[in-house]
Amino acid sequence: MRFVCDSTMGKLARFLRMAGFDTAYVKEDNLARVLAISKEENRLIVSRNSKYLGQQLASNFYHLTADEPLDQFRKLVSDLQMQLDEKRFLTRCLQCNEPLEKIDTERVSERLYDFVARTQPEIFVCPRCDRLYWHATHAHAMITRLLAIKSELDRKPDSERN
Ligand SMILES: [Zn+2]
Repeated sequence: MRFVCDSTMGKLARFLRMAGFDTAYVKEDNLARVLAISKEENRLIVSRNSKYLGQQLASNFYHLTADEPLDQFRKLVSDLQMQLDEKRFLTRCLQCNEPLEKIDTERVSERLYDFVARTQPEIFVCPRCDRLYWHATHAHAMITRLLAIKSELDRKPDSERN
């Protein structure tokens, strides 16, 4: 399942990418652009803005009304019965959605603090923007939040999902 988040959904887009879902994000308020990306790349539009409802694409539009990004994420995952898979967490660049690639720590050691180079066995790079990622403390915090949502949703019987 692929998504395109419009300008109302920047934080949600980050959560989706964090969880490993392929998520485009249009940060300008540009309805035509969002529609074009949705059509060309077969992506579900996610927005709080109801203006998409009149665009003859109700089947490819998910209208989220929750305010808090974590609530939005929880609702979307639950409604669409998406599988949260721990193995896919933090596998995409949070800035540009590109799948990350593992890179030799030695090849990028001059770009890392000594401490990171010494303590992180795995470093990942975004092939598009060249940002480096490793599983630092903040990543563990993110994973903990995603896992909490996952176990909460797993406990819910299907009949209570809506
Ligand atoms: Zn990137």
